[in-house]
This record gives sequence, structure tokens and C-alpha cells, in this order.
Amino acid sequence: MAGATMSRDVDRAAVYTAEDQWSAAIDRGGVIDFFGSRLQLPVQTRFGSLPAVQQYVESLQAMYPDIPPVSARHRRGDTRAHYSNGVIAIPMAATWACRESVLLHEFAHHLNSGSCEGAQSSQPAHGPRFRVLMVALVGRAQTPESSLLLRSCFESKGLVVPAHVD
Ligand SMILES: [Zn+2]
Repeated sequence: MAGATMSRDVDRAAVYTAEDQWSAAIDRGGVIDFFGSRLQLPVQTRFGSLPAVQQYVESLQAMYPDIPPVSARHRRGDTRAHYSNGVIAIPMAATWACRESVLLHEFAHHLNSGSCEGAQSSQPAHGPRFRVLMVALVGRAQTPESSLLLRSCFESKGLVVPAHVD
């Protein structure tokens, strides 16, 4: 993006690790022990086709009527999912990529006006603002319990999640 300020994305690897933990927990869903409390987790959706992905992304979009539109397309190869300029690119051949957690991650980049490479703001792509947007998104799209778990996975990796989006 022309004129974009790229901050060093030092948290990227830790964010991916924390999200992998959270994603594994919502692969199974059900009740987990959370610091001595019982937490009821949803089971994350897996998407078997691009139209199903698009429909889900539209349902996320509908929760944020004031943001620019976002669409989903297939990405060639079996590498990672990617977000840039209003387009979520998903390698549909890679089974991991069709998970709800991946789409929520990429949609949070859309909310943050950034991409996996950089944010439009002076914040790093996977910095505190990205994380609080994703935690809030998960609370709306899934459940407060799933959002709480994601926040806790971030914090267990030493990643700060601000209380509010600034
Ligand atoms: Zn990313």
C-alpha cells in the first residue's frame, strides 16, 4: 500500500502460536478447565467450499456495516491464507486453511486495515490493535467464552491485549 508505514511485526510468530492453541481447543469444543472454572467452548466451523467461505465472510461483514466490503477467493498452492486490500485469499486445498479461526484472523486484518505483512497505521500487523480487534471479533462471531480463551492464549505468550480498541 503506497505511503503505508511498516512497523516491525515482532509479535507475528507468538500470535500464530497462541492462535494455534486456541484453534486446537475449538477444534474439539466442549467443556475445558480454565483456571479452575468450567468453560464451554463452541466447535469451530470448517468450510469445504469457497461459496461456504464467502457466505461466512459476508456474515462477518454484516456485523460491521460501516467497514468497506471484503471478499474471499481461492489462493493457489497449499501455503498460508492471506489478506490484502479487501480480499481474503484461502488455499482451499489445505484443510487447515478452511477453519473458522483462519477466517477470523484474516477478517481481523480487514478490521485493522492491514495485512499479514503490514498495517496501514503505525502499528505492526499483528500488534496490540490487531489482537484486541480479533478478540472482540471472536466474541461477536463465536462466543464470549471463545474470546476469553483467545485472550488468555495471547496473554500466556506475553502478548498484551488492550482492554479497548483505541
Ligand atoms: Zn495475519
